[in-house]
Amino acid sequence: MWNGKRKALTFSYDDGVQEDKRLVALLNRYGMKGTFNLGSALLSDRNGWNEWQRGLRVTYINADEVRALYAGHEVAVHTAHHPDLTKLDGETLRRELEDDKAALEALCASDVIGMAYPYGAYNDAVIEAVRQAGLRYARTIEDTHSFAFPTDPLRWGHTCHHNDCRLFALADAFLNAPDDTPLLFTVWGHSYEFSVNENWERIERFCAMMASRDDIAYVTNREALGL
Ligand SMILES: [Zn+2]
Repeated sequence: MWNGKRKALTFSYDDGVQEDKRLVALLNRYGMKGTFNLGSALLSDRNGWNEWQRGLRVTYINADEVRALYAGHEVAVHTAHHPDLTKLDGETLRRELEDDKAALEALCASDVIGMAYPYGAYNDAVIEAVRQAGLRYARTIEDTHSFAFPTDPLRWGHTCHHNDCRLFALADAFLNAPDDTPLLFTVWGHSYEFSVNENWERIERFCAMMASRDDIAYVTNREALGL
């Protein structure tokens, strides 16, 4: 399936914030790959917000950092300005998708074919616009607790968020599952959550547990779907 392997692990992280640098370094150290969903119009370290839990200041990465930072990983659409797509008129919806795709393709000098829905919000009209924009898959925020392939790649619920209480039980099940059918473990979240929740050790522990397995392919979201 993936270079002859029947299990694959992939990560999907949203918003393109400074904490991505620490997450990318961690994934690189464990030989793992992720997909980073970016809103191109927001990318500047002068933009950000204060997390209400601990008052932590979260800022975006700069646009000129994108190409080097995510080298070896995948960059995907999160729309230009991160609106709730279900609330937009057709023309604004189209521009949010197409502008972000074009801007990210220019920054990365490669094609961009995936996305994650801002706030996880979508409906049938949004999905049709995503398809029209030339995007081939789109991640939701509905956790499946499953290792199955998405039946509809434009409604792709991942296995679980990194804070899911079943994360390590699912990891155990994945490692021990027979690989007579292809199995896909997909984790999603936001890297700033590790700082807000002070739980960087959680993702470190998960990666250490899943790393360096001969039967697991470490892939981007795009590669996971064979796109
Ligand atoms: Zn987001």
